[in-house]
Amino acid sequence: MYPAKAYAVQEAKGELKPWNFERRTLRDDDILIEILYCGVCHSDIHQAKGEWGKSIYPMVPGHEIVGKITEVGNQVKHFKVGDLAGVGCMVDACLECESCKKGYEQFCTSGAVFTYNALERDGTTPTYGGYSNKIVVKEAFALHISDKLPLEGVAPLLCAGITTFSPIKKYKIGKGHKVAVLGLGGLGHMAVKLAAAHGAEVTVLSTSPNKEADAKRLGATHFCNTKDEEQAKKLYSTFDFILDTVSVPHNYDLYLRMLKMYGTLVLIGIPDKPIQFSAFSLLTNGRSVAASSIGGIQETQEMLDFCAANNIVSDVEVIPISYINEAYQRVIKSDVKYRFVIDMSTI
Ligand code: NAP
Ligand code: ZN
Repeated sequence: MYPAKAYAVQEAKGELKPWNFERRTLRDDDILIEILYCGVCHSDIHQAKGEWGKSIYPMVPGHEIVGKITEVGNQVKHFKVGDLAGVGCMVDACLECESCKKGYEQFCTSGAVFTYNALERDGTTPTYGGYSNKIVVKEAFALHISDKLPLEGVAPLLCAGITTFSPIKKYKIGKGHKVAVLGLGGLGHMAVKLAAAHGAEVTVLSTSPNKEADAKRLGATHFCNTKDEEQAKKLYSTFDFILDTVSVPHNYDLYLRMLKMYGTLVLIGIPDKPIQFSAFSLLTNGRSVAASSIGGIQETQEMLDFCAANNIVSDVEVIPISYINEAYQRVIKSDVKYRFVIDMSTI
């Protein structure tokens, strides 16, 4: 076992506080990573606060992990000591079912094992995430990280990057498409960069008028302050796709009506309450609502390679881990440009 330091939350509504625990002894196909940076995803906040209903405490959140390998198991084939490595939202799956074989481990029929707030495949051992100085992970769930990009900006790619890249690939979003990104937060700003890099014409739909200049710098050509409903309604029947990254229930009818014929709104944000909209908002123009959940491991590597080749990283605010509770408050207020990343040397 390896003694590890972390920040954990001990109960719903509790604050994150220092916590010591142990990582498992290396199995033959495991690697040990010294964590350098870990991003702060809104999913960490939902789960730390128990908003999705089934949280396991103590919880060490964090699934946007980059670090350096310090030890490898006897059978590890694709990594060596000294390599950079990343870990995203999953740390295991059966790797044998139809979904896993097709590269969609997130849809593993016996259940993917998530990086934290989950149980390992033995059904009893809790997983602990990246707000920690080290992690042991099966090499099949580790990603290769280029040394060409700043590591603190790469960390958020492990969740915010893949979660927005995956629907762009699935729906072949690119040149000739008008795409709206709803919500300019951690996921939203990556969606803007990635959709623009794929050639789409991007509009940001935001409740924060002060983000307009950033939206354009990130790659959007248009910006709409959705608090001004008259301005928003001018966008009815405009978009081929809307990537909806908002973390709370909102006015789905308003946005569905912005889709042109056969347009699709892809739900990416995961509000804690059921959402609703009128059937008429879909019937008109034959619109669809879809949803997307992170992305498979192979696809995550493809995204990381795409970002390295195109010089794409997240815009980050690097924080010491002692700032984490304030950072949560600021994310909830949409006051982050555009991802907090913990410098793990501060633990
Ligand atoms: P975030 O940084 O907090 O961004 C969410 C953005 O939504 C905010 O910046 C804000 O943008 C907008 N927003 C917030 N409150 C709003 C409101 N009341 N009405 C309208 N817009 C509002 O969060 P994130 O880390 O990007 O995560 C976003 C959501 O995606 C979370 O629910 C998270 O759990 C989920 N998620 C899903 C997956 C998946 O696999 N599907 C993966 C990761 C995360 P503006 O200021 O521009 O309005
Ligand atoms: Zn996430």
